[in-house]
Amino acid sequence: MTAEKDFAAAFREMGPAEMREASRAAELAEWRRTNRHCGCCGAAMSQHPDPDERAMRCTACGYTAYPGIAPAVIALVEKDGEVLLQRNTHYKGRAWTLVAGFVDPGENLEDAVRREIREEASIEVSDLRYFGSQTWPFPSNIMIGFRAKYASGELKPDGGEVTASGWFGRDRLPEIPRRGSIARAMLDAWMSEQGGAAGRIMVK
Ligand SMILES: [Zn+2]
Repeated sequence: MTAEKDFAAAFREMGPAEMREASRAAELAEWRRTNRHCGCCGAAMSQHPDPDERAMRCTACGYTAYPGIAPAVIALVEKDGEVLLQRNTHYKGRAWTLVAGFVDPGENLEDAVRREIREEASIEVSDLRYFGSQTWPFPSNIMIGFRAKYASGELKPDGGEVTASGWFGRDRLPEIPRRGSIARAMLDAWMSEQGGAAGRIMVK
C-alpha cells in the first residue's frame, strides 16, 4: 500500500501530459494483473495474437477482454454564491470535498450526478454543465466533473459515508482538496468567478 500511496502523492505533482502517461501505464498494468484468467471459463489468458489489438484473449474459449475504465462523476453544486462541500468517510484526511460517486450500469452521466447528489445530500439540482474530466488511476477510473445549481430540498448528510455537509461562501471555506485533483480544479475555477478577497482558504 505504501507504493500506492507514493504513486498517489507523485501523481498529484504531475503535469497533464505526465498524468496521462502515468495513468495509461498504471491502468494497463492493473488490467494485465487482473486478467490472467478468463472470466468466463477460468483458463489462462494471453495477449491477443493481433499486435494492434490491445486485448487479452482466452486460450480455451476465445473470450476477449479489453482494458476497463470505471467512470465516476464529481459535482460542484452552487446555491446563492455558496458551494456544497461535505466530509466523506472514503476521503482520507480532514478536507471537505465535492459530491462524487461511480456511474451505475445503465445510467448516463447526468442521471448519475443527480442520483449521487440526491443520495448524499438529499437535494435536487438543475442546470447541469460539463466542467472537464481527469484520469484517476486508483485503480482505473475517470472522473467526470459537472457544475450544477441547487433546485430544491433541504441539505442533509446521508449519515453513512457522508458525515457532514454544508454551504460555504468563498471567504469562509474549510480545508479543501489539494491541487492535482479535479475537485480542487473545480473549486479553484468557482472561486475565481466569485468577487472579493480569497479569505481563509486552508490547504494542507
Ligand atoms: Zn475462457
